[in-house]
Amino acid sequence: MGKVLIIGAGGVGTVVAHKMAELPEVFSEILLASRTKSKCDAIAGRIGSKNLKTAQVDADNVPQLVDLIRSFQPDLVVNVALPYQDLTIMDACLETGVSYLDTANYEPLDEAKFEYKWQWAYQDRFRKAGLTAILGCGFDPGVSGVYTAYAAKHHFDEIQYLDIVDCNAGNHGKAFATNFNPEINIREVTQKGRYWENGNWVTTEPHEIHQLLTYPRIGEKESYLIYHEELESLVKNFPTIRRARFWMTFGQEYLTHLRVIQNIGMAGIQPINYEGKEIVPIQFLKAVLPKPEELGVNYTGETSIGCRIKGVKNGIDKTYYVYNNCSHEAAYAETGTQAISYTTGVPAMIGAMMYLQGIWKNPGVFNVEEFDPDPFMRALNLHGLPWYELHDVNLEFD
Ligand code: NDP
Repeated sequence: MGKVLIIGAGGVGTVVAHKMAELPEVFSEILLASRTKSKCDAIAGRIGSKNLKTAQVDADNVPQLVDLIRSFQPDLVVNVALPYQDLTIMDACLETGVSYLDTANYEPLDEAKFEYKWQWAYQDRFRKAGLTAILGCGFDPGVSGVYTAYAAKHHFDEIQYLDIVDCNAGNHGKAFATNFNPEINIREVTQKGRYWENGNWVTTEPHEIHQLLTYPRIGEKESYLIYHEELESLVKNFPTIRRARFWMTFGQEYLTHLRVIQNIGMAGIQPINYEGKEIVPIQFLKAVLPKPEELGVNYTGETSIGCRIKGVKNGIDKTYYVYNNCSHEAAYAETGTQAISYTTGVPAMIGAMMYLQGIWKNPGVFNVEEFDPDPFMRALNLHGLPWYELHDVNLEFD
């Protein structure tokens, strides 16, 4: 039994609140807090649990966070606001002596750069305070790291090649929309590609490398090599990896819109002066795009996210593919959000459960693959994200 404070009331926050409210034996009291309290109230109204309360907080403001944490006294803070808030929330956790979990690594507002260095720098402070920080506990990052740890524990003596493959074969019926926060999503997919090979990072132009990959129950989809944050922690935690890459599917429509958005300057992250007021183009764009949490209603199709791994077991080369497929319709029927929010929110809930049950509870700052993957993998099957394994199959890579 534990008390948890969720910060952020978007698509992911909605799923986390839903899933936690279903488990009162684990999450005895839940406080959902965000910048706009009416959004928290609307979510709580739909869930209708007496264990779920709401509050307003500006998570950029450490004293406000500290006051809220002191008044509620949670065992854990689950950060599903934006990556910009990671450090202020970690600071507030240290000041109040509470553990921390998030789903995306810190990013400075004025620089589209994904690196763990800022959060890893909290290692000594969390360890000395006896607190746990669990970083990147969504699907990718999150389940992608747990899958890799599970493969290393059970199926390989040495992992050599890791390809994380992320396919969204859903259709939301809109000309252009992003599946999670538009600002974070566009910053992520427009940056240069990057992958790990033989001890070095190799940089590519955005979307330069692509190939057709076949996804279970979906079929062939053009998949693009992009940089994704878990590559940084996975190559550190599994040093036998010779090459690690991340692939994501994009439709032609989506890429065309993205190119136009970039070409006309709407993806800009530096403020411009518009009629005497400073605005950031990408933040203005976010305001006019469909909201991720509202995409679910007509969303059809499935996501398929997994790890394709090649390595050695007992001196013999082997391949392994572990994945989950998630239906947008089923996610919507259960929580009122689409599969991207669902596949992020469920692992965040499971990570929180692992912490409250004392299973993932070491002092310090950790990426998910540093913990025992087995209890987490069991929980995925029980809470809506079942996984499947294929052994010694063609991984479609050289
Ligand atoms: P949304 O934009 O839908 O929701 C973000 C929420 O955070 C909103 O409720 C917003 O409030 C709130 N928020 C923003 N700034 C503040 C602040 N200063 N103080 C308090 N609340 C604030 O995003 P998503 O739900 O789609 O994504 C949430 C997180 O999940 C993001 O960090 C995203 O990167 C991550 N993510 C991780 C994935 C993974 O697999 N690991 C996949 C998808 C997302 P308001 O409503 O007022 O704007």
